Amino acid sequence: MMNKRDGQTRPDAGGPASCWSCRGPVDPRALFCHTCGSIQPSRPVDHFARLAVRRDYDLKTVDLERQYFGFQRRFHPDRFAAKSATEKAHSLQHATSLNEAYETLKSPLGRARYLLELLGRPVIEEDQTTSDPVLLAEALEMRQALAEAPDAAAVAAIAADAEAKIADCQTALAAAFVFYGTYPGDDQVAEIQCPVYGFYGGNDNRVNATIPDTETAMERLGKLYEPEIYAGAGHGFMRAGAEPDATPENRAAMEAGWERWLELLRGM
Ligand SMILES: [Zn+2]
Repeated sequence: MMNKRDGQTRPDAGGPASCWSCRGPVDPRALFCHTCGSIQPSRPVDHFARLAVRRDYDLKTVDLERQYFGFQRRFHPDRFAAKSATEKAHSLQHATSLNEAYETLKSPLGRARYLLELLGRPVIEEDQTTSDPVLLAEALEMRQALAEAPDAAAVAAIAADAEAKIADCQTALAAAFVFYGTYPGDDQVAEIQCPVYGFYGGNDNRVNATIPDTETAMERLGKLYEPEIYAGAGHGFMRAGAEPDATPENRAAMEAGWERWLELLRGM
């Protein structure tokens, strides 16, 4: 039996579990039983835990790949060719869950969307479509031009036009959001191509001491930089503020930070 949504529908098994095969005790996180060696069922964990990477947007593709291929090797069908139907089913379930985790996290957009989902703040709907009449008319026009293109050169011209439009949109959309980051240095600031919005905790003196440097450099280069300092909050308040035992200041800063962030994203 395959259940792709396994990870999202059952509560996390935290306590001691027993092996389905030998009934011996087994760590709920173990992939294989330490007593009999049998493969254990795929557990309900999030995609980051599945690939044993930290729950973070800032992940390197090579690290994700290494984790994915490392785990995937352990569940290769060849290894289970001589095993029971139950073991084959478990290995397939692991492989499927790993694929889903990797497919979701490998692109920055997918990762951002999934992180927001985990935080209970989804911003992009799966089935989101446009009903903007201007955009639809433009798309129809381009499709028609493509259908009626007399030769390869005309098709190439349409493609170049579309690429230029995409590049325009990306430039217009781009913005950077920095959370309690220190001044990156003159060389890196010179490379910045988009507006930067900063989020800082009022008690984060080490970081905040470098805000004036960033302001000066960005102003000198004619670039937009808008820092916002949340009173009483500490370093890492977006994470700390979401904890059950968060201080009122961190919680308030986290909520205000989210509001501002979503507000800025909506305006783009
Ligand atoms: Zn066992």
